[in-house]
Amino acid sequence: MCYAIPAKLIEINASNNTGVVDYFGEKRNILLDAEEDGVKVGDYVYAQGGILVRKIEPQEAEEILKSWREVFFELKKTDEALSKIDQDKLPPNVLSVLQKINLRKSLKKEEMLSLFDGLNTKNELKVLYEVANNLRQREHGNASCVHGIIEFSNYCHNSCHYCGIRCERDIPRYRMSVEEILAVAKHAVDQYGFKAIVLQSGEDSYYDEKMLTTIVKEVKRLGVLVFISIGDRSKEVYENLYKAGAKAALMRFETSNAETFAKLRPGTTLEKRIELIKQIKNIGYVLATGFIVGFPGETNSDLVNNILLARYLGPDMYSFGPLIPTHNTPLANANPPTKDQVLKAIAISRFVDSNSNILVTSALETLDRNAKREALLAGANSMMINITPENYKKMYAIYDNRSQIDESCEKSIKDTVDLLYSLGRAPTDIGKIL
Ligand code: SAH
Repeated sequence: MCYAIPAKLIEINASNNTGVVDYFGEKRNILLDAEEDGVKVGDYVYAQGGILVRKIEPQEAEEILKSWREVFFELKKTDEALSKIDQDKLPPNVLSVLQKINLRKSLKKEEMLSLFDGLNTKNELKVLYEVANNLRQREHGNASCVHGIIEFSNYCHNSCHYCGIRCERDIPRYRMSVEEILAVAKHAVDQYGFKAIVLQSGEDSYYDEKMLTTIVKEVKRLGVLVFISIGDRSKEVYENLYKAGAKAALMRFETSNAETFAKLRPGTTLEKRIELIKQIKNIGYVLATGFIVGFPGETNSDLVNNILLARYLGPDMYSFGPLIPTHNTPLANANPPTKDQVLKAIAISRFVDSNSNILVTSALETLDRNAKREALLAGANSMMINITPENYKKMYAIYDNRSQIDESCEKSIKDTVDLLYSLGRAPTDIGKIL
C-alpha cells in the first residue's frame, strides 16, 4: 500500500515553522522545522496530519506521482459528484445553519440542539449528512488520512466502567517488547507504506519514560508521524516524548459531564483530564480528542456540550465513537446509541468546526459494519487501521466484537483503500487547504 501521495514543498516560512506543499496544483499548509527536517523549497516530502514527515528522493517521488496523476483527478471528480447538495431542498433549520457557516459565524448551542432534536426522519438525516459531506469537501477537497494503530499493551491501572481492559476485568494480558513494537512498525512502513503510526495502550506504567522515549525515537526514525495514545502521564513525560519525536497525541476527555466522568472513571477527574489535554496542545502536539457517544442517561444537550468542549480544546482531529457495552464490565447491560446518533455527532461537529479532521472509529464500525462508509459521507475524513499483531489484537478487548478483529491487516488495508477509492478520496495530506 502506498496510502500517501508525495507533495512538493513550494514555500517555507521559517518565522513560524510552516510551509506550503503542492499536490498536482492543490496547495496545503503544513508544519515543519526546515532545519531539523533538513528540507528546502523544491524537495519532495510526505506530510501527515498537517505535519511534514520526511523527505523523499526526487526520482522515487516522480515515479510514484506518475502513477497517481490520472487517478488523482478521477478521484476528485468522483468526490465532487458525491458531495453535491440541492440547496432548494434543505429543511429551514439546516438551511439557516448552512448560511451561518458560509458567513463563518459560530453556531449557538440552541442551533446545534435543534439539529439533534429536530432532524429524525430518514430524509432529514440524509440531508443533514449531505450538507456535512459537502462542507467537508469544500474545506478539505478529497484528502483522506489513514493511520496505522499498534495496541502495544492491554495492562491498565484504571477501572473505567465502560472499558474492557479495566484492571478488575479478568482477561489475558500482554505487553509487547520494544523490539516487537519496532518490528511491527517497521513492517507497517516498509511493507504497507504507512506514514503515520499510532501507539496506544492502557495506562501501563511498566513502560516508563525511558522506554517510551526509546520506542518513540526508533519509530520516528522510520520516517513516520508518531502519534501517541498512552493516557494519563505527567506534563513532563509528554514534553520529553515530544522532544523525542512524537508529534501527535490522542486523548479523549470521554464526556463533558463531570458527574458522569467521576462515576465512570473512579479515581480520576474531568478537570485533571482536561488540564492534561490542554497541556498536550500547548506543548505543540497535533491533538486528537473527543468523547464516547451514548453513556447511560446521556441527553442531546450533553452531546452538544461534548462537541463544544472538543471544539474549545482546539483539536486538529475529532475522535468519537459509540459506547459498545462490554460483558463483565459495569456497563455490560447499557444500551448502545443508534448509528444515527453518532453520524449526527459527526455531521454537527463538521458544522461547528468546518476545517476539522474527523476520524471514523472502529467502535462505530463495530456498531454497524456499513457505518464507515456512511460516516465518510457525513463529514468524516480520516481513519485508522489496526496493525496490532493478530494474537495481541484479540486481547486488546476494550469492547466486545471489535471490527477488523478477525481479519488480517492486509485485508483491512485493502477494504479501506477500496472504500476510499469508491468515494473518490485521495491520500493527499489533510493540512489546511489554501
Ligand atoms: N489509555 C489511553 C487509551 C484508552 S483506549 C487513554 O486513556 O487515552 C482508547 C479509547 O477507547 C478510550 O479513550 C475510550 O474512549 C474508548 N473505549 C473504551 N471502552 C469503550 C467501549 N466500551 N466502547 C466504546 N469505546 C470505548
